[in-house]
Amino acid sequence: MKYLSTRDKTIAIEAHEAILQGLSLDGGLYVPERIPKVALSEFEGLTYQETALKIFSLYFDDYPQEDLQRIVRDAYDDKFSQRDIVALEEVEGQQILELFHGPTLAFKDMALSVLPHLMVKAKALAGDRGKTVILTATSGDTGKAALEGFKDIEGIEIIVFYPEGGVSEIQRLQMMTQEGANTHVVALKGNFDEAQKAVKEAFSSVPLRREMAEAGYAFSSANSINIGRLVPQIVYYFHGYMTLAARGAIAPGDKIRIAVPTGNFGNILGAYYAMVMGLPVEELVCASNENNVLTDFINTGEYSTHREFVRTISPSMDILVSSNLERFIFEISGRDENLVKTAMTDLKEKGRFKVEEEIMKKIQGVMRGGYLPEARILGTIRDTYKGSGYLLDPHTAVAFGVAQEMGLKNVLIDSTASPYKFGDAILRAMALETELSTVAETLARVETLFGRELPKTLKGISDRPQSQKRVIFPGEIQKTIKEILKVESTMFKVRVPGTSANIGPGFDTLGMALKIHNEITFRSISEGLEFDNVSQEYANEGNLIYQSMLKTWECIEVEKMGVALSVTDGIPISRGLGSSAACVIAGVLGALKMADKHLSNEGILKIAMEIEGHPDNITPALIGGVTIATSVGDNNEIEYMKLDIKDQYDFYAFIPPFEIATEESRKILPREIPLKDAVHNVSRAAMMVATLISGRQEFLRLSLEDRLHQPYRSKLITGYDELKEYFATQEFLGSFISGAGPTVIAMAEKDQWFGELVFKDWQVEKLNIDHEGARVIQL
Ligand SMILES: *Cc1c(COP(=O)(O)O)cnc(C)c1O
Repeated sequence: MKYLSTRDKTIAIEAHEAILQGLSLDGGLYVPERIPKVALSEFEGLTYQETALKIFSLYFDDYPQEDLQRIVRDAYDDKFSQRDIVALEEVEGQQILELFHGPTLAFKDMALSVLPHLMVKAKALAGDRGKTVILTATSGDTGKAALEGFKDIEGIEIIVFYPEGGVSEIQRLQMMTQEGANTHVVALKGNFDEAQKAVKEAFSSVPLRREMAEAGYAFSSANSINIGRLVPQIVYYFHGYMTLAARGAIAPGDKIRIAVPTGNFGNILGAYYAMVMGLPVEELVCASNENNVLTDFINTGEYSTHREFVRTISPSMDILVSSNLERFIFEISGRDENLVKTAMTDLKEKGRFKVEEEIMKKIQGVMRGGYLPEARILGTIRDTYKGSGYLLDPHTAVAFGVAQEMGLKNVLIDSTASPYKFGDAILRAMALETELSTVAETLARVETLFGRELPKTLKGISDRPQSQKRVIFPGEIQKTIKEILKVESTMFKVRVPGTSANIGPGFDTLGMALKIHNEITFRSISEGLEFDNVSQEYANEGNLIYQSMLKTWECIEVEKMGVALSVTDGIPISRGLGSSAACVIAGVLGALKMADKHLSNEGILKIAMEIEGHPDNITPALIGGVTIATSVGDNNEIEYMKLDIKDQYDFYAFIPPFEIATEESRKILPREIPLKDAVHNVSRAAMMVATLISGRQEFLRLSLEDRLHQPYRSKLITGYDELKEYFATQEFLGSFISGAGPTVIAMAEKDQWFGELVFKDWQVEKLNIDHEGARVIQL
């Protein structure tokens, strides 16, 4: 069985390779080339382990059978407190499938007790003797389960990142008291989505991978994007169904409903795979908490992260970007890789995507979505306890409550965590005082309610030694990984803002920095020039960044050094938004940093001027804000001032799909202009400066008038007149051509609401002023 990327089906690898890689390098997720079909009768009378072996053999057919047998035996042993690994309880007419009897008391153990074994064998199959670093973002349960699964496994280091303040106290303690010399835990400032994003970025950073490879490390992931986690999550659906049938709760062949408390969409995806494999399923119920992005998606076809991230009492479901949804969309769209690619690009760039009606109908054919706000989660826990004496954890309660509200009966409901993990929420639901209780007291009270003995992994947990606390910002993740693994850093990053020159009448003089950035990573290599991640067109000696480096080394009289470049470009090329100036400034700063030399801003600008002669772009690119800059004498000296402006406007950049080369837009300008036009511009430019400093908005429109370049350059911009007409229908304060065009920037009062701005197929970006300028960041 081959595994394909959801974004490029020509990428096809074996299961063990997919398990080692985690995420495909094109950003896609690995999926089996086909989902195998099975007959229900094959599962009759099987134990949990036998069911697992049957399913693993179908998906991991590159693993020798005896290895799979051993893996299943080692994974599902007495770390699970149930002989049957899972348990099934009937509560108020629903069927609760308890998946929390593993060592860390959450359903993540179902897969994470297997994954380490799959990975070790995968390394052996691949002949890989290097060290593997597992990077994992967690909303609480994955972290602990992964730490526990990978602890003390030869050749593997595991680093877990959790959102600070975004996990329950028990979840935090479970991670901080983790044993094992190869386990590391880091708190990240931000929410789970931000943690997941930072981990994904580190994971797919080509320069970081190369640097780590030189130190003998390769990355992998234990997140539910790893196919080695998805497959074990299919097993309990078959096992659960057979148990229901054996108990007479259903007749063999009956279609069932399955309700899953959902976060990253991994668990419910396992159910969907089971359904496609042939498990009789009527419908899946995707249950969410107040972060109900999936409910809306299922109901409307639009997935939008433009909403507040809510911290709830079911933190393992506090997610707005559900990674595994990508695999579901791939399957439900008939494996349409282009559709997936477009949707995921939209999600990344715009924070939303929409699927066609036809796809939406297909989704609704297999799945229903519902969500429960906080008060109803608490109410569900309380009422269920009062009604039947059964204690639901705040995640399971979401699925239970949603199924109830839909009026469904005999639903197979995934119970994903033990209530012990969320003691505070349980006590709140029971309206019991929690303010003063210690962790031990809370656990003791939950024990009384639950009526099941406190698991020994939690006994005395708050008295155990904790590992050293590390709290970092998402931007420090690469540095932190290297510190933990004691890998010496050979790289740094320069972040440079885009710029808009002229600002109406201030031809070649006024400029401002905008919050749109290029990030260039410089990695030291022994000699020569390499490109870690630069498109073919620019991957040569003529690269402007590299040329700027050479020039800088020449100016400061330093020998040239070996460098590998990689570029993440946020600034569109040749659109009048300062992409070349950004490359020049990055090159100069990068060369100086590599040579460990410091220069004043004037010194830096002088070198930059020799490479590209636009003081009104390079100055704000370097120092940020709004600047007046001009070259004096013929020695490329720049004199500049940064204006202390009132930050009272938003800038909407209207970026057309075509380029205009700066040369072309220079050529169209007249050599001479009438005196009255010159006077006109002097007055407007002077007024512009005063307007920006004083905040006197009433002069803005007048200040934006220009006769030096815009009347000529606008002729090169196809659609310019229509755009002006469009602006007239909106409440903009004025507009100007950015630099040499073709981008046009409209100004508006700060935070004025416009709804969606659409003009032809132009890209519209709301940008603010970047006050910071270029920055060098150690990686
Ligand atoms: C991880 C988790 C979930 C969400 O599962 P996904 O596979 O991410 O959708 C729900 N409940 C608990 C307790 C969890 O740990």
